[in-house]
Amino acid sequence: MSKSTTALLFMLAAALFVFSVKAQERDDSRLKPAERNRSGTLRQLIPGYYVFSSTSFNSGVIATSEGVVVLDALSSEAIAGQERETIASVIKQPVRFLVSSTFHNNYTWGNVAYQDVVKIGHEDYRTDLLAQMQRDHASPEEQKARLPQVTYRDRLTIHLGGKEIQVLYLGKGHTRSDSIIFVPQDRIAYVSELFFSDQFLYINDGYGVSWLKTLDAVEALPADIIVPGHGPIPEDPRETRRGLHRFHQMLVDLRDAVQKEIARGATEDQAAAAIKLPQYEQMQGYKSQREVAVRRTYREMMGTLK
Ligand SMILES: [Zn+2]
Repeated sequence: MSKSTTALLFMLAAALFVFSVKAQERDDSRLKPAERNRSGTLRQLIPGYYVFSSTSFNSGVIATSEGVVVLDALSSEAIAGQERETIASVIKQPVRFLVSSTFHNNYTWGNVAYQDVVKIGHEDYRTDLLAQMQRDHASPEEQKARLPQVTYRDRLTIHLGGKEIQVLYLGKGHTRSDSIIFVPQDRIAYVSELFFSDQFLYINDGYGVSWLKTLDAVEALPADIIVPGHGPIPEDPRETRRGLHRFHQMLVDLRDAVQKEIARGATEDQAAAAIKLPQYEQMQGYKSQREVAVRRTYREMMGTLK
């Protein structure tokens, strides 16, 4: 990131800081005991690093002495508001940056609850989020409230409270513009929907072969903990690496099966009928995504994926 972009980013952050503090004060006062019993929960993984989970969706929360960075705003204004109230109550620091990984509605409808926060995403994330909102006939106000003010292409670094918080684009995967967050000094990464923990991959807008290469890059990060965007996080968060490797193996199995079908001259329809991946059939998402996964991977290998 250039110096001018860094300067712009921090001017934005400073300008929004006052509003942020006000929002947090209001949220604090609204957090009554009865309201604590709602669906989302904030869990600390290691000191300063949290995950806010609502059903099987996980949002990353990084706390510093100068404020908080959130990864993914989740599926509604209500749940995002609840996440912010919980952050205000537990961490007692304002949210300064929202990083968004995938443009899908179930991770970006909540962006509207972050109007006082600098929003960051990959440049293709911005393009695809805008196109999706136009398809959905979202109002101009909603579009403005959800779009990032800051975009990047390869990487961007947030320096906050003594932490070097890297926002990285490692290649296509769940979408063409997934962002991850990596904090080298604390050996932790948050990888959003690039990692479905103990679930079948969701690939309607994804790229099976590229996803595998991107996960190779994720596995090569010097991190002890790799936080999934979906699915459970083990009691010992260091076990996430093993879960990631199981997910990586699913992509290997998918790629190998499609490659074998292509090698024997199968058409896309024949490959979709033949490849069952039975070892994953008990997993959530298998029924709806197996065929999509085969078809998109087939097209990606044949160079016909749009
Ligand atoms: Zn998604």
